[in-house]
Amino acid sequence: MSDTAPLRARAEIDLDALRSNVRTLRARASGAALMAVVKADAYGHGAVPCARAALEAGADWLGTATPQEALALRAAGLPGRIMCWLWTPGGPWREAIEADLDLGVGGMWALREAVGAAREAGQAARVQLKADTGLGRNGCQPADWPELVEEAVRAERAGLVRVTGLWSHFAAADEPGHPSIAGQLERFREMVAYAEERGVRPEVRHIANSPAVLTLPESHFDLVRTGIALYGISPSPELGTPADFGLRPVMTLSASVALVKHVPGGHGVSYGHHYVTPGDTTLGLVPLGYADGIPRHASGTAPVLVAGKWRTVAGRVAMDQFVVDLGGDEPAVGARAVLFGPGDGGEPTAEDWARAAGTIAYEIVTRIGTRVPRVHQ
Ligand code: PLP
Repeated sequence: MSDTAPLRARAEIDLDALRSNVRTLRARASGAALMAVVKADAYGHGAVPCARAALEAGADWLGTATPQEALALRAAGLPGRIMCWLWTPGGPWREAIEADLDLGVGGMWALREAVGAAREAGQAARVQLKADTGLGRNGCQPADWPELVEEAVRAERAGLVRVTGLWSHFAAADEPGHPSIAGQLERFREMVAYAEERGVRPEVRHIANSPAVLTLPESHFDLVRTGIALYGISPSPELGTPADFGLRPVMTLSASVALVKHVPGGHGVSYGHHYVTPGDTTLGLVPLGYADGIPRHASGTAPVLVAGKWRTVAGRVAMDQFVVDLGGDEPAVGARAVLFGPGDGGEPTAEDWARAAGTIAYEIVTRIGTRVPRVHQ
């Protein structure tokens, strides 16, 4: 394929919008440092260019789930503090220590592996102890916290670790007034206080994700970890639109219409004939399917902008393609079909797709597959 060949589909990534979001979020973070969360290929937006743009705009840290993601950022030359937090036994602890990563550690087995790798590497591991303050997922239970803290303090005295952070994660920060929020904050303060009384001197204490950055200033502490808001998507429609928070959506997903054809009324469309044309009409073929991350649950419901109007996905989304009913309009083959974008050009948004597919916008952007080139601009 030549570089100038028209693309079947593309995800345009507006790095200016991302930079603007970093500045907006930093301004809302009560003076706390900002970690740009670029896990899952920057929520489908391309990890390396997004990480670079985030740092240019003033992000202080980068964050990933897996150590492999963090090591890939280092290998691409990204400087500064990078934290990763999703470890499994036998993980690349030593490589991570040698790459100067901060290691999120949520339990005793993980701390012991980090300490063992630090001994082998001859270099202290920077660890950040994770408290489960109520999410019920990763992290150390309050009952086990004393033991984890004591072990970390011992390892720190032996020069094998440096406890750089104490942190946790919210269960329902996107639901204002959810009873778990106050309880988690209280438990976090208690668990931090316990560790500090035992001599831990963390550089950063952090619990806030995007919804907390936007709505819970009391949760900002020293650092906020922002993912979805960085990409200009509201964490939840109940909290507000991206524009309400001054955020600019970063991804625009579009494709070239691959076929336009006339069909009579009563014509079944796509697998299972779940859509039958109500009368004579034109159909347009959009060359994106569930193998590209287009949710099959959006069959028959999701909007697409073609030739100035919203059309609905007609019938089932297939593996590589879906059909829209153009209602008699005849755009040229090759016309642009915009699935979602910022919305300011009349196109649907990722939130519209999430609603249509019965999911969250996080899933819509994160699942866009590798067949769709990301065009950073
Ligand atoms: N921190 C952790 C531990 C996470 O797992 C995530 C994402 O799920 C984030 C921060 C960022 O969350 P959000 O995208 O809501 O900002």
